[in-house]
Amino acid sequence: MKGFTLIDNVWVENKIFSTYFSCDYDKCKGACCWAGDAKDYDGGTLLAEEAQEILLRKTALSPFTSEDLRSIAENSPVYTRNGGIYTKLHSDGRCVYMNGKGCALKDACAAGKLSFDIPVYCQLYPLWVSEHSDGNMKLFLADSFEEFCRPAFEKGLRDKTTLLQFCRIPLIRFFGEPFYQTLFNMVTQE
Ligand code: SF4
Repeated sequence: MKGFTLIDNVWVENKIFSTYFSCDYDKCKGACCWAGDAKDYDGGTLLAEEAQEILLRKTALSPFTSEDLRSIAENSPVYTRNGGIYTKLHSDGRCVYMNGKGCALKDACAAGKLSFDIPVYCQLYPLWVSEHSDGNMKLFLADSFEEFCRPAFEKGLRDKTTLLQFCRIPLIRFFGEPFYQTLFNMVTQE
């Protein structure tokens, strides 16, 4: 596949090896968690086990959420569409767990109320994972990267932080340490 390299069973977009990235929350204000009109976007993608834990603990998570999003958090913080599971969005496009400082799930985890800090798909962003039609997986930069993450790209370039360094934890969470090490070694060979 053009522009991709097959590593184990994952097609990896070549751009990933040369991209700089370091989140600059002060500048972007969590743009990837507030995508715009809720009609056009889904919320944060959840693994089934993450969704299950959120639903089980929604009352305990509620104090970490913004007041104006709390009724969604307490009633229906999760929904499914076309086989995917997502966090609910406010009609203005904010994820139910945006709390003005970052992610309410991260705060809840720090307080011992949740076993994971943020959903793995959210933590991977701007990387995205999907299934390829040939049965392999595909790891690539999200289409919205340019739109939402310009400040992160500039900060990464200034700090000399590569995308693979910044996304080390979620990549290991999702694919495991050996796969991450293979990716990382490919950068150092360039
Ligand atoms: S769950 Fe947290 S990280 Fe994911 S979209 Fe919502 S606020 Fe952002």
